[in-house]
Amino acid sequence: MSFEFKTDPAFAIQQDRDDTLSHIKSLFHFPQHEGKDAIYFCGNSLGLQPKSVDAALQVELMSWRERAVGGYFGGPNPWLNFHELLIPSLSKLTGASNSEITVTNTLTVNLHFMLLSFYKPNNTRYKILMEAGAFPSDQYAIETLVKHFGLEPADVIIEIAPIAGEKTLHTKHIIETIEQHASSIALVLMGGMNYYTGQFFELEKITAATHQIGAICGFDLAHVVGNIPLQLHQWNVDFAVWCSYKYLNAGPGAVGGIYIHEKWSSNTDTPRLGGWWGNDEKTRFKMEKGFHAKPDASGWNISTTPVFNMIGLKASLEIFDQVGIVDIRNKSIRLTAYLEYLLNQLPNLSFEIITPASFEERGAQLSLYFKKNGRAIHDKMMASGIIVDYREPGVIRVAPAPLYCSFQDVYQFYCILKEHF
Ligand SMILES: *Cc1c(COP(=O)(O)O)cnc(C)c1O
Repeated sequence: MSFEFKTDPAFAIQQDRDDTLSHIKSLFHFPQHEGKDAIYFCGNSLGLQPKSVDAALQVELMSWRERAVGGYFGGPNPWLNFHELLIPSLSKLTGASNSEITVTNTLTVNLHFMLLSFYKPNNTRYKILMEAGAFPSDQYAIETLVKHFGLEPADVIIEIAPIAGEKTLHTKHIIETIEQHASSIALVLMGGMNYYTGQFFELEKITAATHQIGAICGFDLAHVVGNIPLQLHQWNVDFAVWCSYKYLNAGPGAVGGIYIHEKWSSNTDTPRLGGWWGNDEKTRFKMEKGFHAKPDASGWNISTTPVFNMIGLKASLEIFDQVGIVDIRNKSIRLTAYLEYLLNQLPNLSFEIITPASFEERGAQLSLYFKKNGRAIHDKMMASGIIVDYREPGVIRVAPAPLYCSFQDVYQFYCILKEHF
């Protein structure tokens, strides 16, 4: 895909006029900077608050106030099935059937539960392949899981790193590594997108290669869901987990999501750690002995639905439903390409875009490695009302989330770089 972009401000204004999603920005609250909305490029870390969250919270507060325990079965959104209100929208975003999705707990917790269901080490097949430099929580989850099984992380974990001199991975290299360890890998567990480089991996090909050697393939989609459309079922991915507070805009610590392929989720014998909320509703309240898993992904639910952790997600998913992930993605590809184009007009700045240049390998994020001035540029942006994220050594991650970022926002970022550095 190639675009014709220009460096004048009129071009950015025209792009926003032509943008069929530009009105969606007004559905969000922005942090304030000197009496004005800040420009927010941190939606890959914590998405903005949809204005509709407030009213949605009031509805459930009222249900609790006026119905108390009756809120489980009555009121506008009976809490007993509250999570079901979220599933159809998430199925659309992830390319799964409703029976393959559940919403419960939070991301790393769900990752642990999935690992306990899907990592079955034996004497010959016990290795776990993951990307080097995975998000720390994922690294800790795997490390502690391995120790939980009485195994040595150094024996078990295969980390795949970029080849010398490069910052991102090649699918070919990933697949070759899987094939090299064909008889010893039990599980391939990668971030669907690396949080640091912004590289989006080829999930379908990685899954196929993993299945080819008879292992299980799971992904952490924290940076992907709500950012890039997925076809998890069609790609045969075994399981995936994600959080809802990044591109899904559901608020800090909001409920996490799980996808479990039908071949596993419909089988009530698939191993899991259970609790009463994953038990068949017909027998859940009989309070009897014997766990009867629900025959779908919600059979992994454990505790009472955390309603107040789901309200932000419900409000936010209504926006996703209204717009559709295809249009969101189309705008996103264009907006990120525009940012890349403008950055490439700055010959005096010594920096490298470490995110892949191909739109198929990235979402709404560019990670910029500044050989010098990284910290100063970050500070200047913040002082100018542009919120971006900084990671040592010199990486600024810029995420123009398409729901609430505009072409003029991106242009503004470029102007500050051009004027000051
Ligand atoms: C954001 C993120 C997390 C955070 O996990 P929580 O359990 O929600 O705190 C974990 N893994 C990845 C890849 C992430 O991007």
